[in-house]
This record gives sequence, structure tokens and C-alpha cells, in this order.
Amino acid sequence: MRKVVKFGGSSLASAEQFKKVGDIIQAEASRKFVVPSAPGKRFKGDTKVTDMLYGCYALAAENKDYHQELALIKARYDEIIEGLGLTLSLDQEFEIIDRQFAAKAGKDYAASRGEYLNGHIMAAYLGYQFVDAAEVVFFKENGEFDAAKTNEIMGERLKALSNAVVPGFYGSYPDGRVKTFSRGGSDITGSIVARAIQADVYENWTDVSGFLITDPNIIAGPEKIETITYKELRELSYMGAGVLHEDAIFPVRSEGIPINIRNTNAPDDSGTWIVESTCQKPRFIITGIAGKKGFCSITIEKEMMNAEIGFGRRALQAFEDNGISFEHMPSGIDTLTVFAHQDEFMHKEQAVVSALHRMCDPDHIDIEGDLSLIAVVGRGMKSTRGTAARIFSALAHANINVRMIDQGSSELNIIIGVHDSDFENAIRAIYNMFVLVQL
Ligand code: ASP
Repeated sequence: MRKVVKFGGSSLASAEQFKKVGDIIQAEASRKFVVPSAPGKRFKGDTKVTDMLYGCYALAAENKDYHQELALIKARYDEIIEGLGLTLSLDQEFEIIDRQFAAKAGKDYAASRGEYLNGHIMAAYLGYQFVDAAEVVFFKENGEFDAAKTNEIMGERLKALSNAVVPGFYGSYPDGRVKTFSRGGSDITGSIVARAIQADVYENWTDVSGFLITDPNIIAGPEKIETITYKELRELSYMGAGVLHEDAIFPVRSEGIPINIRNTNAPDDSGTWIVESTCQKPRFIITGIAGKKGFCSITIEKEMMNAEIGFGRRALQAFEDNGISFEHMPSGIDTLTVFAHQDEFMHKEQAVVSALHRMCDPDHIDIEGDLSLIAVVGRGMKSTRGTAARIFSALAHANINVRMIDQGSSELNIIIGVHDSDFENAIRAIYNMFVLVQL
């Protein structure tokens, strides 16, 4: 059994947290490949080291004095080193960082030092080998992640080792310059390492015991999701329910490696499993409910639209030409509605309307704002009769007017549009109907 274990920032924010992580790693001989984040927040209101690094480098980039800020960052690491009783010194590393900041090595380089230094501490603490991510994670010239090169070189390098610490979040361009993934990107590194060593499991340790069925800010203490498929997660994360970086699923998914989300502060909890497919019956018919406010709908009406070849393409062209992506597109016989993000659409709306007139010659265009989309997702839906009926009767009983319904052909999800002011109530009504009643 080979596991890759990735630890998030809050799991490594202090020496105390590091000790929990050490215990977790030592508890299983299979946990030999470790991917750490930079130290995160120790308490509410604290600052993540990554943010301190961005702030510090911003001063350097403006030719302002940044040494006080750099000293504060060093203090964060020294506190951890001391708390763990290690003899490691990062003095030399900080001298290099100082020189690189003065030479304006770039904000990606600056941010990546958070993981790089934490990786050194982790390796010293565990007695594992340190492997610099810049030597095994590669980006192309155009900034795209180079999966093939990374997999080959990292695979070669790690297969020769019996253990390793690979810092998360960054890699390098062909010319050696450091580049980071987007924020939260250590999750992606963990997935890449799992693929490269053909791990049996990718354990992603964070500060929650897995995914919850819905947003705890809307439902107090929602039930946990035991097992979710990659596809279901995609439908949910797409709507804004992110514990895991969205791009982290691709490397392991292509190899059929499951992800297990775990809680560093409650290591006995089994967490959530993310798998390709499973015959395990979900506890509830629905796996999760996620949603987002702030959409608008643009409804285009034209008599005999259904007979007009190319109407849909031309309508979408009007959006594309204005650089607007669309989220959903339900249609009727003579109507087509496009859902777009309101903040993206707002200042281009009149340009889109005139483009639509030019390209589609519609009878009527109607725009409505302040709409929410709610995705009700579950692999259990396909084989259960009456799911849609239950959703809509729950909404009707809660006095919620449904503005749009869209069921994906995968029968994995039903998307519902409601007014922003009904958003929370709609989620509560659906949760109560499928989860509460069954508990
Ligand atoms: N430290 C980086 C961030 O704060 C990456 C990560 O933690 O995954 O975004």
C-alpha cells in the first residue's frame, strides 16, 4: 500500500499542528510521500505565510524596505523549528530569499517559498528526503501545466526513493523560473505526486472531516458525505462548494486513484472518499446541494425559432463576441434562455442585446437579474423515482417560486433557478426533504 499524504496550511500552522501531522504519518507505514502546504492561520484573524510572502514581495517590487516583513516570516518558521526541537537553521535559505527579493525574482517565486521552507522543516522532522518541486513539477512556456513531462520526470525521481517530501503549490518553467499554481494549488501537487508514484490512495488532510452535504452557513451541522464520485464533485464544486482545488481531481482521476479527505484535528474520522465509481449505496438519494447567487437570465424569444437552423449558435456567438461565458441554457420551443454571471454580464449587457438583435433578429429579449442557481446532485437519482417531484414539492411548500429547471442528461443533477432572496430557504427546504426526514 502506497499513500500520498497532503497536509493543508492549517494542519501545519504551528509546531503543535506539525506534531499531529507527524503522528498521523507515523501511524501508517504506507504514508511515505508527503506534500506540505505553507503554514496557514494559527487562529482566527492570523495571516497565512503565503499572504505574508505576497505582501513582503510587493514591497520589494516597489523598491520599498521589506526586511521587517521578511523577519516576521522567518519568525513563523523559527517558532515551528524550535517547537519541534529541531536543530535545522533556515538562516542561509533566508539570505538567498533576501537576495532574490532584492533582484525581483517575481511574485511566484516569493509565494513558493512558503511551501519550499515548510518542506525542509517537514523533511528534517520526519527524516525523509526533500525533493524540490521545481525539479519535478513542470510548466510549459505558455504557463500551462506540463503533465506528461512532470509525470515522467517525477515518476523516475520518486520511484528511486523510499520516502520523500515534495512541497506543494509550485513548479518551474523550462528556463527554471519558479511558477505557482493558483491559490490552494498544493492540492494539485498532491494529486500529481499520487499519479507519479501510482499511489493506492491520495489522502488530503485538512481541517474538516470531509465534504458536507451542504453549506454549514445555511444548515447548522449538515451531515457529511461518505463517498462522492468525481463527476458528482465536479457538479458541486462548479457551483462553489470547494474544500479541494478543482484541478486536483484530474491527475488522480485519470489513473483511478481515490482521494480521501481527512481531518488532521480528528484523525479517527473516516472523512470523505472521492472515487471514480462505486456500488456503495449513498446514504441519501442526494449526495450534495450547492449553489451560487448572482446570476442573470437573458431570454430570447422568436416565433418559429425551432425551425431556424443556426439560431442557437448565433445567439451564443453574441455572448462569445463579448467575452461572456454562460452557465446554463434551458430552452423552449420559441425561447432560449442563457444564464450568465451578473457581475460579468452587467456592464456589457447593452452590447450583448444589440449583438443578439443583429445576429438573431429576435421578437423580444428579456433580462432578469438577482437569480441563484442551485445544483442538487446525486448518483442515486437515476434509479429513484420521484426525486424531481420531491424537490419541487419541497420548494412549493416553502413558498418558493422556481424560475428555471434544468436536468442534466446524466441524471446526476437537477439545477434550479430561484430569486436570490429565496436562495437559503430553497436549500433548507431541499435538505429537509431528503436528509432530515431520513435521519
Ligand atoms: N499556500 C498556498 C495558498 O495559500 C497554496 C496552498 O496552500 O495550497 O494558496
